[in-house]
Amino acid sequence: MSQQQQQHIVVIGAGVIGLSCALHLQSAGYAVTIVARDLPAPFETICLSPRSHINYASPWAGAHNRWVPPTPSGDGAREHAMAVATYARMAALAAAEPAGAATGITFMKGIEYLEAPPAEYLALTPERAVGELGMPAFRLLAPSEFPDERVVWGCEYDTWCVNPMVYCCFLLRRFVWGGGRVVRRELKALAEVYALDLGLSGGEKGRIDAAVNASGVGFGDDDKVFITRGQTCVVANSCAATVTRQNADGSWTFSVPRNFDGGTVIGGTKEPDNWDADPSPQVRESLLRSFTATHPAILGESGELRVLQDIVGRRPTRRGGPRIEGEIIPGGGFVMHAYGLGGRGFELSWGVAQGVLDGVQRHLKAHQAKL
Ligand SMILES: Cc1cc2nc3c(=O)[nH]c(=O)nc-3n(C[C@H](O)[C@H](O)[C@H](O)COP(=O)(O)OP(=O)(O)OC[C@H]3O[C@@H](n4cnc5c(N)ncnc54)[C@H](O)[C@@H]3O)c2cc1C
Repeated sequence: MSQQQQQHIVVIGAGVIGLSCALHLQSAGYAVTIVARDLPAPFETICLSPRSHINYASPWAGAHNRWVPPTPSGDGAREHAMAVATYARMAALAAAEPAGAATGITFMKGIEYLEAPPAEYLALTPERAVGELGMPAFRLLAPSEFPDERVVWGCEYDTWCVNPMVYCCFLLRRFVWGGGRVVRRELKALAEVYALDLGLSGGEKGRIDAAVNASGVGFGDDDKVFITRGQTCVVANSCAATVTRQNADGSWTFSVPRNFDGGTVIGGTKEPDNWDADPSPQVRESLLRSFTATHPAILGESGELRVLQDIVGRRPTRRGGPRIEGEIIPGGGFVMHAYGLGGRGFELSWGVAQGVLDGVQRHLKAHQAKL
């Protein structure tokens, strides 16, 4: 067994970020244990008690990849690179499982309509989008393809959607199959990770070489973190594309086909610091009406929407973007932070996992050099 294989990493969290990091670290040869309060389960059972899982963001996501071009000054370039890395990994996972059923991934068209496009959208030519930014099959829509006259800019491209809990269960299953360990536990503080008795050898405390903080919102010690409430609605209707409309008043209208008997998510709201856990029937009506007006094809032959489930979720958001950096915490343990992904956890997940692997390897190399 190589020196690297003997090193043990504990990942806190089993949302899409913790699972992706755990699998990526495992593939690089580390022994990995996931410690988490919430674990993936079929969406249908999570919905039996939505309030008890409301702080677990991953089940409530769409989840689609919507390309977000960096601004002319370069803002968002780091996140865009992570989205490109994630797209490539999703394509590889889907190709390895052609039926797709195991992974929950579907590739399809993404369609966007904007009423008030910012400069970075207006600057998108097919050459820049495809060649420089890696947005496959990008095409500007002609005005005749817009749904109404309030839309002034539109595009389509190739992208992916996942059924979040099918996908997260797949990641968990693959991790365990690869020898990963899973412990259901809530930590009261980050430093507790280094005091865990993981029972690795006859009940003795296992050695931990590094930890990953993929807890979604962190441990309450980062004043840049806040939640963004999202209300959406799952309908049984299928939708051939993931369609997003950005309205001039800042509101959003979108569809995210989950497939695999998961219906289509119609959304949605983005409400910073709103902790209300209950869906509003009025908001549901307005979301369904707005989306149907933009994309009547969702109604299909039946001519109506069949509602399956209202969703309220909390996006773990962070001013300035996600925190992906290493830190020596009080007590001397090393923690690689990977939290605050906001509304983009799925679409950036494999890029985050690569950043975490790089940070862990850097730390362990520097640590070994000191010994
Ligand atoms: C309505 C809605 C729609 C969305 N749509 C999309 C989309 O289309 N595309 C997209 O990319 N993203 C989307 N998102 C965002 C996405 O859901 C999040 O970015 C993502 O789920 C964050 O994943 P995470 O692993 O960081 O956090 P989480 O999924 O919240 O997981 C955190 C993990 O840490 C564990 N944990 C936390 N604290 C502790 C503790 N003290 N001790 C032990 N364990 C702990 C939890 O139990 C859990 O296992 C959407 C979100 C919402 C709400």
